[in-house]
Order: sequence, then structure tokens, then C-alpha cells
Amino acid sequence: VTPISLAVDIGGTKLAVGIVDRSGRLIRSQHRSTPRTADPERTWDELSDLVEDELGHARRLGTPVVCGVGCGGPMSLRLGLVSPLNIPAWRTFPLRQRLNDLTGVPAFIDNDAKALAVAEGWQGAARGRRDYLAMVVSTGVGGGIVLDGRLLDGRLGNAGHIGHVVVEPDGRPCVCGGRGCLEAEASGTAIAAITGAEPARAPTEIVVRTGVMVGRAIASVANLLDLPLAVVAGSVALGFGTPFFEAAQQEIRARAGLAFSAGTVVVPAGLGAEGPLVGAGAVGWLGIGQKVWGPGGVSAGDATAEVR
Ligand SMILES: [Zn+2]
Repeated sequence: VTPISLAVDIGGTKLAVGIVDRSGRLIRSQHRSTPRTADPERTWDELSDLVEDELGHARRLGTPVVCGVGCGGPMSLRLGLVSPLNIPAWRTFPLRQRLNDLTGVPAFIDNDAKALAVAEGWQGAARGRRDYLAMVVSTGVGGGIVLDGRLLDGRLGNAGHIGHVVVEPDGRPCVCGGRGCLEAEASGTAIAAITGAEPARAPTEIVVRTGVMVGRAIASVANLLDLPLAVVAGSVALGFGTPFFEAAQQEIRARAGLAFSAGTVVVPAGLGAEGPLVGAGAVGWLGIGQKVWGPGGVSAGDATAEVR
């Protein structure tokens, strides 16, 4: 019987669930729009309907053994509470407990960008790599870091949040209260505010500027953490394509010049639309102490498996 990780991806516009096997294959999935509501229970009702339906499919296809979740931050991993900025109805919402009770299998939650980092190391553009940064440049900017083959968590589970690295000291005000953060300069929201139009219609100069900002943040992280690879996902980055990635690479070359960081490379994510659910499935496997890697790839740290 096939052991199954029930994968749940929670975003500001879309709730998705799917079935991920031990090899990292997304067997099937379905999704619904995220309700626009201030009522936390209304959002939960929508999600629980979807999860219950997918659980039925999972039971026909194998044995669900764990539930893995990718969700927007911030969150407290240890307590299983989420407060996703893009879902205002949920503030310290007890998502892990609710999913435990609903599914009857242990649920594990992580930041969606960290989940994507695991997915990219498992089956995507960072496959088999031990040291890399993965980031999402879409409506917001998030990230996750794998160092020495382990996903970094930090004190509350928010490590790798590259969206608030400063790239313009006197730049635009940020939602975090700071100024000139990467998210305030390069997110889809920022680009829309700067140009007055959706990011897909941004002129070349904005595409290049966004690449420069992202490259600048990557260079700082490469210098800080001795990691040679950045994988970039998200609708804004992937929509901008080659000119964006060339500008980012050029900025990295200009700003990461130490012997260990000079060769740092930025590449587009490899998993496309499946990345978030493959990552959520991986969060489940990691949660119950299963490795999700080829030699040298991502593994759960001992402490990590315990505190979640
Ligand atoms: Zn900020």
C-alpha cells in the first residue's frame, strides 16, 4: 500500500490540496479560491471541505500517514499557529490542531517559501544540492535556506525571510515598518504601486530594476552564508523571465566577490506550478522524520523534527 502525504498549500488567493508519495510525485490535486472574509471559521470551513474530499481520494489510492502544510508567514511552528499576512481572517489560528483533528494523522506546518525550498532540493532546480537559497517573488517576497543539507528554521520558524533584507537604504516604506526592503521594492505589490499597472505589463526598465534588487539581496545572503546557488520562483520573477534573471546575475557578480561567493548563480525554479504542493508534501515527510533527498540533499535536522 502506498504511504501518502496529504499536501496542503494555503495562499491568499488559492487553497490547494493534493497527494504526494514518498518519491516526491504529486499524484493528484485540487484547489479553490481563498474566501475573502474576516471570519476565520468561514476560511476554515472552505479548507476543511477541500481537505476532507482529498482525504477520500487519498484513502482510495493508498494510506494517508501524515499531513504537510505550506502557509504564508508569520507563524509559530512549535505551537502550530499561523497568522498569514495575506489571509487577514487568520491571526494565531490553530491550524495544526484543526488539521490533526480533521484528518486523524499528524499535521506539520511550515512557511510556504521554506516548503518550496525543500521541494526544489528534492525534485527541482537545486536537486541534490546541500547549500542554497530558494525564494518566491510574487505578490510578496519570501524565501527559505538550506545549509549543510538542512532546512534552516530559526527561533520561531521564520528563518530565510529574504523579503525584508534592505536593498535600498532610503527606499520605499515596507509593511514591516522598515524602508527599502526587498519586498517593498521588488514584490508584485510594490511594482504595481510604482508603475500603476500589474507586473505583467511592467516596462523593461522595471523588469531590470527588479532583477537588480533581487540580485542584490542574493549577493548579501551568499556573502553571509557561503551558499553558491539561488533558485527563484514566483509569478513576477518567472513572468519577467530572461531579462530579470540576467540583471540579477549581473548584480550578484558585482556584489558577491569574495573567493567563496564569487561564483554564486541564480536560476529559475524547476518545479513550476507543482512546487508548492510537492513542498507541502515534503513538510509532512520531514515532520515524521523521513528523509526526502538524494545523497547530499535535504534532510530534517534532529531538533527540527522534534520541535515541530
Ligand atoms: Zn520589510
